[in-house]
This record gives sequence, structure tokens and C-alpha cells, in this order.
Amino acid sequence: MNTQANKAIIWPPFTQVNIAAPSIHVTKAKGSYIYDTDNNRYLDLISSWWVNLHGHAHPKIAKAIYDQAKELEHVIFAGFSHTPAQNLCEALQDILPSTLNYFFFSDNGSTAVEVAIKMAYQYWVNKGARRNKFLSFAGGYHGDTLAAMSVSQSSGFHDAFQPLFLSVESIPYPDTWFNDYSVISREQDSLSKLRSYLNQHHKNIAAFIAEPLIQGASGMRVSRSEYLKQVVELVRSYGILIIFDEVMTGFGRTGTIFAMEQVGCIPDFICLSKGLTGGFLPLALTVTTRDIYEAYLSNDIKTAFLHGHSYTANPLGCAAALASLQLLRSDKTMNAIQQINKTHLKYLPNLADSCNLVHKLRIQGTIAAFDLNISCTKTIQHLKRQFLKDGLLLRPLSNTVYILPPYSITEEELKNSYFKMEKIINEVNT
Ligand SMILES: *Cc1c(COP(=O)(O)O)cnc(C)c1O
Repeated sequence: MNTQANKAIIWPPFTQVNIAAPSIHVTKAKGSYIYDTDNNRYLDLISSWWVNLHGHAHPKIAKAIYDQAKELEHVIFAGFSHTPAQNLCEALQDILPSTLNYFFFSDNGSTAVEVAIKMAYQYWVNKGARRNKFLSFAGGYHGDTLAAMSVSQSSGFHDAFQPLFLSVESIPYPDTWFNDYSVISREQDSLSKLRSYLNQHHKNIAAFIAEPLIQGASGMRVSRSEYLKQVVELVRSYGILIIFDEVMTGFGRTGTIFAMEQVGCIPDFICLSKGLTGGFLPLALTVTTRDIYEAYLSNDIKTAFLHGHSYTANPLGCAAALASLQLLRSDKTMNAIQQINKTHLKYLPNLADSCNLVHKLRIQGTIAAFDLNISCTKTIQHLKRQFLKDGLLLRPLSNTVYILPPYSITEEELKNSYFKMEKIINEVNT
């Protein structure tokens, strides 16, 4: 009913309005489902752009926000502080490596990355060095602000802005899938290119940034943890700082609370957002080490990190994040994360067996993905509409279909989603 009005005045994100279907007007959401004006319900298989952890409108998080709003909704965070921020950082210390213990707040994934990049750069400036280059993986996606776009420049999302970017070198990214026999040689290629690049340029490189274990926006592309560990150790041997962008992978998505646990490396910076508040409010953190923090200390304002946002450490966001963390660490959620992984392992291979369009299977914790042997965008758009018609909210990334569900999804719901997908994909194929 309101879809036309929406189209006229609201400019939606990542959308070519001329060819997109009108936005679906949502009136409410509960658990794993969202509901539109006609009371159609959609199973949120992408956690509303990867932010939701425990299901929509979770009463514990809603109550935490309400209780906090009655006490302190917001206050300037320079010269002032508050208990929700303090408590949240202490709770995160419990689950982060002990060397990551300085917390800088912002309010979305891009700003968390922007902060890490600026902090890494100024770290060297404060030490009297000039390091003007960054390293990232080909296809990596780190957000839509300028520095974040610069380190995502090969993702294809930001081509118009190429002339404005920071100087960034991309390392080939050897992604892998089930029964992939070429990955080891592609990893070796990538490592040798990196080695020769570092040999020549290491003195100019401030930091290396990566999405650990799985690249999200470029198509849920998985890499082997052993390879990533080698890359990090190599880069670090040249004194270059390491940034892990766990904006998507954080808070259980990859099967462990953070992906870095599986890589076996502790970075100098970790960027957190998306799942931080369980999907309720925009909040982000860049967490770093004492070494970085201390490089900013002096009696001169110029060596300080002169960066901040109006809503830095918003108390409502902090309260939501604390409540979400408590839910995350419960046995119930930890078991749900394992169960989702098992269900993927059981039904994704089935799907591939019964749909010959489906290939390149990958599963990383709660995330499952596959590619379709379809190059026609119209067919993919058609598939997306058919999924929606059948009550499945899926949003393929070009020809990659992925499931990244909230932890509230049941085994039955996930299993049925696989059966529905099978039917829909096979219909398109005939
Ligand atoms: C989504 C995402 C970002 C950007 O976060 P926003 O909150 O959308 O700005 C950064 N890095 C990764 C890995 C992401 O998935």
C-alpha cells in the first residue's frame, strides 16, 4: 500500500530504483520472521543484512533498551563516561584475547574500519614514520566510507570512486569450497606474490586488513585458516599492523565467537559492529592493543586521536549489546550455533545432489553458501522473487546464494528452507 510513496521520496541503499521491485513494507518482526502489511511472513535467512543474532524483537534486549532509556538515553562521550559503556567493554574483555584491551566506540561497521585505518596510519605518524600504503585481499569488502572503500577497491562496489582512494595493494585471495583440489597451489601463488611485494614495499605499508575466514559481501568466499595464519605471520614479520574486520564474522557466525579463534592469530585491531547489539541498534567498536594506545599519549593534542561521532558509545546501544552478549554466551545459543552448522552439513550436499545448477558448496559455522551456474541477472532476480513468494528472505550476491540465519531458527525451519530452495531452483532450471 505504501510502496509507491516509498519509491517516490526514500532513497534506498544498494538499489537501482529504476529496475528494482518496490520495497516490501514491513510492519513487525518476531523471532526469525518479518511480517509485511498484508501479514505475509518471511523467514529472515540473512539476519536482516547480517545484524540479527537472537531473532527479532527479542524481549530481553527490548527490555534492556527500555530500562536504559528511562535512566540515560545519551550523553557526550568526550569528558563524560557511563556504566553501560564500561560494563560492555568489560564483558567483551571476557571473550577477547587479553592483549586486545583498548576500546574505541563508533556506530557502524564502516566507521569501525575507518577508525582502525586512521589509527594504524597515525600510529606510524606519531612514531615519526611515513607509511602511506595499505594491504588488503582482492574482493574484500570493508564498508562504504572513503578509507573503507579504498581497502575494498577490488570488490567492484566502489568503482566510481577509484580516483579518490588511498594507496592500497590487493593480495590475490584463494577462496575454496567442498572438493576443491586447486586451493593449495592458489595459496602458494598468493603467498609468493605477497612475499615479493613485501620485499620491495614493506617500509611504506601501515597495515594489512582482512575479513578472517570468510569474505562476506564479495560472495561468502571462504579461505583456509592455515593459509590466513601464514599470511598474517608473514606480514607481521615486517612489522606491519594487522586489522581483522570481524564486522560480519563476529559473535558466533563462523562457529566460534570470533573467527580469529580459528585462525590462531591475534591482530592489532579488531572491528566489531553488525551483531554487536544483536541487531537492535547501530553501534561499533574498534578494539586495539596497549602498544597502539600508548603511541597516542603525550602532552600534545596533536598526537591524540582526534576522531569521534555524535552518538559515540550511545548508552541504549551499549545496553542492547550487553543483553545480546549475555544471550550469546548462554548454552542455548551456543548449542543453536552448533545445530545450525550440523543442519547445513546435512542438507546443503543434498541440495547440490538434486540441483545440477548448484556448485562450489561452502559452510563456515552458521553460514552456508553455494554458486549457481546461472549468469543471467534476470534469472537471479526471478529466483529472489520466487524465494520471497515462498516466504524465504534470501538475497543472492550475484550468482551466490547464501544462508546466514539468526540463531533462533529451528532445525525444522532450516531444513524446510533447503527443500523449498531445491524446488524453486529446479523450477527455474526447467
Ligand atoms: C557490513 C560490513 C562492513 C560495513 O558495515 P556497515 O555497518 O554496513 O557500515 C564492514 N566490514 C564488513 C566485513 C562487513 O560485512
